Amino acid sequence: MSESTSSDRLSFNRAAFLAGGLATIGAALPQGSRAATPSLPAGVTPERLLGRLMAGNKRFVDNDFPNANKFAEKRELLTASQAPFAAILGCSDSRVIPNLVFVQGIGDLFVARVAGNFPDDLVTASLEYSVEHLGTRLVMVLGHEGCGAVKAVYSAIETNSSLPSHLSELQRLMGPGIAGVVKARGTEDAAVEANVRAAVARLQKSPPVLSSGADSGHLLIVGGIYRLGTGEVRLVE
Ligand SMILES: [Zn+2]
Repeated sequence: MSESTSSDRLSFNRAAFLAGGLATIGAALPQGSRAATPSLPAGVTPERLLGRLMAGNKRFVDNDFPNANKFAEKRELLTASQAPFAAILGCSDSRVIPNLVFVQGIGDLFVARVAGNFPDDLVTASLEYSVEHLGTRLVMVLGHEGCGAVKAVYSAIETNSSLPSHLSELQRLMGPGIAGVVKARGTEDAAVEANVRAAVARLQKSPPVLSSGADSGHLLIVGGIYRLGTGEVRLVE
């Protein structure tokens, strides 16, 4: 990706304002006549939204943050409704903060975070809500280097043991996706990627909301891996 310019930033902010502007329109309508489902402007594809998300990550890597004063404006705009352009399923890890990683503000991202970034039914329900009721058309599962949850599950499988207490639930959910890497004596990085792939596949197959959206192309569900040292997100192809 090329170096961002001030005109890039302008068009980026304009797109963000357009998305936020829907909420303004909704807020101006009398109670009862408000559109039930906020949505992004017509003609915006999930692929374009992915470009917007990754452009934000480029800003994060370059330490190029927008003017913080915009937050006050967005707060006002979004008091009545929200239309986040992407949903992120990230890890609870304190070093991987989706809104910072993609340089997105209030109302831009619908975020679910859980250790190991793997969807159980509650997490899937959250993502369904974002897609069905908030009009989100892009979901990213965001794994990361050095994931403690992945390491723990990897190690439990390798030593043929069970994780203690509620961590056993992580092993039950994440184990099948990681087991092949452990068997092949793969690296932890490979396990992180396998876990992201398994999470994406599980969401893509989750009926009825996510699977039908993914099948029709209305919804894009992708995986990404965050690099701790550089802040870069690599898409998992
Ligand atoms: Zn993690």
